[in-house]
Amino acid sequence: MTAPQVAVETLEVDVAIIGSGGAGLMAAIHALRAGPALRVAILSKGAVGRSGCSIMVQGYNAALGADDSPRLHFEDAVRSGAFLADQELVWALASDAPARVRELENAAGCYFDRTADGSLDLAAFPGQTRNRKVHRGHETGIEVMGRLRDLLFRLGPLELADVRALELLRDERGEAAGVLALDLRRGIPIVVRARAVVVAAGGGAASLYRVATPAREKSGDGVALCYRAGLELRDMEFVQFLSVGLVASGSKVTGVLLEEALRFAGAHLLDGRGERFMARHDPERMERAPRDDIAKAMYAEILAGRGTPFGAVLLDARPIGRTVLETRFADLVARARSAGRDLAGEPVPVAPASHIGIGGVVIDPSSATAIAGLFVAGEDAGGVHGASWQGGNGIAESTVFGARAGEAAAAAAGDRRIQPSSDAAIADAVRLAFAPLTTVDGPSPFTLSAELRELMWERAGLVRDEAGLAAAAARLSELDERVATIAVPGPARANPAWQEALDLRSSVLVARLVVEAARVRRESRGMHTRTDHPERDDRDWLRTVVLRRADDLAAPPTIETRPIVLDRLRPDQAAEVGAATQAAGATRP
Ligand SMILES: Cc1cc2nc3c(=O)[nH]c(=O)nc-3n(C[C@H](O)[C@H](O)[C@H](O)COP(=O)(O)OP(=O)(O)OC[C@H]3O[C@@H](n4cnc5c(N)ncnc54)[C@H](O)[C@@H]3O)c2cc1C
Repeated sequence: MTAPQVAVETLEVDVAIIGSGGAGLMAAIHALRAGPALRVAILSKGAVGRSGCSIMVQGYNAALGADDSPRLHFEDAVRSGAFLADQELVWALASDAPARVRELENAAGCYFDRTADGSLDLAAFPGQTRNRKVHRGHETGIEVMGRLRDLLFRLGPLELADVRALELLRDERGEAAGVLALDLRRGIPIVVRARAVVVAAGGGAASLYRVATPAREKSGDGVALCYRAGLELRDMEFVQFLSVGLVASGSKVTGVLLEEALRFAGAHLLDGRGERFMARHDPERMERAPRDDIAKAMYAEILAGRGTPFGAVLLDARPIGRTVLETRFADLVARARSAGRDLAGEPVPVAPASHIGIGGVVIDPSSATAIAGLFVAGEDAGGVHGASWQGGNGIAESTVFGARAGEAAAAAAGDRRIQPSSDAAIADAVRLAFAPLTTVDGPSPFTLSAELRELMWERAGLVRDEAGLAAAAARLSELDERVATIAVPGPARANPAWQEALDLRSSVLVARLVVEAARVRRESRGMHTRTDHPERDDRDWLRTVVLRRADDLAAPPTIETRPIVLDRLRPDQAAEVGAATQAAGATRP
């Protein structure tokens, strides 16, 4: 391999924000409100405000109903996360969400659906005790992100679209000093020096699986950058799967979500022989069993070979009736049609689809991390969801903690003087990033990506055991070595194969961390199910698994478990108010 000679551009700003989903845009807006004279740059791997998953959301949880309160929202989230969430973070989420919704309406100009009396039309995601889903039809994300983009335009940050963060820069004291980025269209590295950095790249553990719902460009970069920089990660073993991802074999449409609400409206789940397999798993509740149990039952059926030849089971929505489907569920009928399926006329193939990575970087309620000047918000952060995520809390998390991160970053940028960062470290990072372009005879990144997704699906998916996880760990070490030998043909500008190779550097690392954490947690809780440790164990495992890099990045992480602080809600208290929630189904506007 010859070392490429690469020209590097530089840019100086006060605040650099990585990512332009809900967290990134809110961080920019709040940083500029707190410090209108600050130079704020948004670096976004995709189009600014139109990439990532925030644009896909259907509903936003906020305690705005007359019978609701932030306390009830908090309790629902803690219970849904099986008591593993950081209760201070959940408290911040539930307390700030109503104000963020009002800001979206009054400052950004979002139109959310209202009832005849003018109040917000609130619906419910599965498992909620109160209707608190704020929405704009089923396209809430489009409304929120479009209006935030308009607001941002008026505030005028520097928008760097199609620019991916490659590495976090640290100064000689180890504090945040900016970002090494890559302009994807021109193939040129940019050193962005900044006095405060917000990482909001949208997580990425959910992208590691065969059937996955997230935006294509999410590959775990934010989490990987923070881990490489030495930050602690928590709860990496928990990856949220939803039950009804459409399977269109061999097509990128695979993973498009049909909604859980279909099950509550009367749809049946069938195995490859046309039998309602939930009779084997939960004969009483059948398709109305809780979302996580349904996903695990589907996964078990598919892995046992009782699914369809293409690794799916079938969702039969015909019992709901064509008229209802084509009116109340018209968007889902259209979605299925895009994969060539008639939802109202035939059973359609579905599988559990990985949806969001629950774990992420350890932050405090202001979104600060252990590195001075570095803040993390949205799906890159850990601790808000515990062991299982509740629908509607994702966009709430991004906007609440994005806003907090923006304000904290503005304050930090005012206070901090950064020291120089190491030129040698920058040169090494550039060399590493450009290596696939000058390597010959290496594997294709697309082949390795497909291998990674199959491996994670089979060995570290919804149901796990030590033997499978150990096998996954060994294969991932091997995959890691092969990623270092990837060869892609040039040029550097606008080269998707090269970007896939860079994605893999992050995603294999994140996969290793998911597997390491999953091996440590010897119990079953929330989205982590171990057949060799099938019970939830509150005596020994009300603890979070915290991972931190060893000096040698290729070595396994150092691992610690820490007790969860239960000072706002304990499991024994929850029993008094929790029973009603379990039966609650989703309601659809
Ligand atoms: C199909 C779908 C439906 C969903 N529905 C809901 C819902 O109804 N309610 C709910 O609460 N949650 C929902 N979620 C979850 C929700 O979308 C996320 O929790 C939340 O939007 C994440 O926001 P974010 O700002 O952290 O990341 P995202 O909105 O995903 O944005 C990530 C940003 O980071 C950028 N990026 C990535 N890597 C880099 C890099 N290396 N350098 C620079 N930029 C980078 C991306 O281009 C993008 O701009 C849904 C998720 C999916 C996939």
